[in-house]
Amino acid sequence: MSRDHKHRHQQLKTGITVALLGNPNSGKTAIFNQLTKLRHKVSNYPGVTVEQKSGLFKINQHSKGIVTDYPGTYSITPESLDERIVAEEILQWIHGNSPPDVIISVVDASNLSRNLYLTTQLTDLGIPVVLAMNMMDRVQSKGTNIDIDKLKKELGVAEIISLSAKKKWGFKELRAAIDSVSAMSDFSPEADCAIKIPEDIRKTLQPLILLLEKEFQYSSMLAAAQALRIITRNSAFDLYAHLKEIDSRVTETLLQNILNLRDQAIEELESLGHPHRVLEGTIRYQRIDDTLNDISFDTNRFVKETTKSERVDKVLTHRYIGPTIFVLILYFIFNSVFTWATIPMDWISLEIAHFGEWVLSKMNPGSLRDLFVDGIIGGVGAILVFLPQILILVFFLTILEDSGYMARVAFMMDRIMTKVGLHGKSVLPLMSGYACAIPGIMATRTIDSWKDRLITILVLPLMSCSARLPVYSLLIGSFIPATKIFGLISMQGFVMVIMYFLGTVTAFLLSWIFSKFIKVESKSSFVMELPPYRIPIMGSVFHQVYSRGKLFVKNAGQIILAISIVLWFIASYPQIPEGHTGISKVEYSYAGRMGKMIEPVIEPLGFDWKIGIGLITSFAAREVMVSTLATLYNIEDEENIVMLRDSMKSDVDPITGDPRYSALIALSLMVFYVYAAQCLATFAIVRTETNSWKWPMFMMAYMTILAFSASSIVYQGGRLLGY
Ligand code: GDP
Ligand code: MG
Repeated sequence: MSRDHKHRHQQLKTGITVALLGNPNSGKTAIFNQLTKLRHKVSNYPGVTVEQKSGLFKINQHSKGIVTDYPGTYSITPESLDERIVAEEILQWIHGNSPPDVIISVVDASNLSRNLYLTTQLTDLGIPVVLAMNMMDRVQSKGTNIDIDKLKKELGVAEIISLSAKKKWGFKELRAAIDSVSAMSDFSPEADCAIKIPEDIRKTLQPLILLLEKEFQYSSMLAAAQALRIITRNSAFDLYAHLKEIDSRVTETLLQNILNLRDQAIEELESLGHPHRVLEGTIRYQRIDDTLNDISFDTNRFVKETTKSERVDKVLTHRYIGPTIFVLILYFIFNSVFTWATIPMDWISLEIAHFGEWVLSKMNPGSLRDLFVDGIIGGVGAILVFLPQILILVFFLTILEDSGYMARVAFMMDRIMTKVGLHGKSVLPLMSGYACAIPGIMATRTIDSWKDRLITILVLPLMSCSARLPVYSLLIGSFIPATKIFGLISMQGFVMVIMYFLGTVTAFLLSWIFSKFIKVESKSSFVMELPPYRIPIMGSVFHQVYSRGKLFVKNAGQIILAISIVLWFIASYPQIPEGHTGISKVEYSYAGRMGKMIEPVIEPLGFDWKIGIGLITSFAAREVMVSTLATLYNIEDEENIVMLRDSMKSDVDPITGDPRYSALIALSLMVFYVYAAQCLATFAIVRTETNSWKWPMFMMAYMTILAFSASSIVYQGGRLLGY
């Protein structure tokens, strides 16, 4: 690689650039946050950092740097989409396109041998590498000493820093290392630490190595590494095609030359009995083993800790006990979402009612007052009530994720997943769908096979997201009795779990069906690494809870506010002329007429026109259903701020005098919400992630059909049974 080191040295004052690279779960984001004092999500499972983030950080009194947190990757020979993003960028670096001044290779020190694989790839690049041995809090307590100086020499890294992102120590040393390494104008690892390729193999690679050295001016170390990569995997060669735009040396003829030399080498290798597809892996792991041997690094020292996790895993991932525990945990979570949240929820709804009454008494009667009280306070208020429940749910989900338990769930489910045509890697995105489909769909980028990924995306919106919670919660709270089944299990919590299960089971069923119909491409195999159990970092859990809550309130403040205002208008006008009786205000309005218009379509599901209006407005976001009903009831009742639960319970049919809603209708509506595709944001993200209109349209279509059929089965079936 040709780069002007003097130039780099001068840049130091204006800010040096640092790249954080490492395996998923090695703690890159935790280090990034600690360096930049920003707070991004840290998670205990692969694929969470799908987009790279950059931030300014202080190196010392005088200088600042820019650090970038890249998606986790096991290797720069790409296997999956998010690995390719990193590999592509690194190839651009070595072709002179703004390489960082320093690479921080983050490794999980308690899993050194596997983590060092990527490190050995990085040291070959010719960019100075600082090896950050993270999670030393876990290693030191076991009394392991690593001969740092020797390791440094053998690996060819510029500096080795032990640190703990969790305990927040080692960062002073890390900053100092960044400072000194970026100032080393001529760092180059000692030649003998470069990748050691056995002679017979090297001979077959030689023509390709020479070509790369000559055409791209690679160092001999880099040329050997790249040749090895190109021969091992097609994906490594494919990356070069993307270079054409930024590097004029990359031409079609040259690419063809590389391809020919590659095929030739592969043929020779195979005839020598070296399978080319494992070439790089074999050579690098051999080297890592030798290195760790040389520093008499005793992997047994970590056994104690691993067995502790393993012992726990014997129970938690047991064939039968494991899933039982999982269901119990889910039940516990949803039950506490109900019971613990009632106190703050009652308090919030009371305060909102007080506030509404206060506004009512202070403002003069008229349209403006109606808009404020019925439209805005009624609509937005009805949604804010659910904040405590969302916060509790996110709190528990984050703990499950960060502790490493979610990865176990994925592991347990892997057997089932492959049976239903999915992949072990699909589980984690699916599980994050319980919080929100958007991050879940983004996280599918870790899935290598396009088919598996597409199916996962298509069924992911069936996982009950937190925006459905307000709807379930309102309906369960109003219509499902708070009794106990067998005097033990709360009926309300049980119904809630049923809704979550319904979505999940359907997602599995459909992926099985989709996998039969969507045309196959080659399957990829994948062995999942289980991260060790960890006590979650509470600061990061609370931050996650906070940012979800903020998002929810922001949504309430924007989308729901806007919809509430529009809705208030179309539900209040035209006003009933004097002397017109037998029809309510809302029924007479535009909204009422709209609802009435679609009533025939939704009647078989047990829904009336008020719910119909909610179904239309909640296309923007599911929770809008609740604010819509609140606004409608508030407009009908002119004198008071109504409590939505009470007014739904006491709403009667004006002709028969029967209650308008029942437990059966509530169930039918909840089932509708389990399946219906009411989320514009999901539609948009599926559009971008699949890069087509076809798949989001397909998703909408199948979900809508499902919602209508399932709801009518529930309602009509219930009627037949006499409910
Ligand atoms: P990334 O995937 O490389 O970005 O890793 P994260 O920063 O998301 O961290 C993965 C998990 O490891 C999280 O649960 C962190 O809380 C945890 N973690 C990060 N650094 C440390 C550390 O130094 N010690 C311990 N014990 N845990 C850590
Ligand atoms: Mg990360």
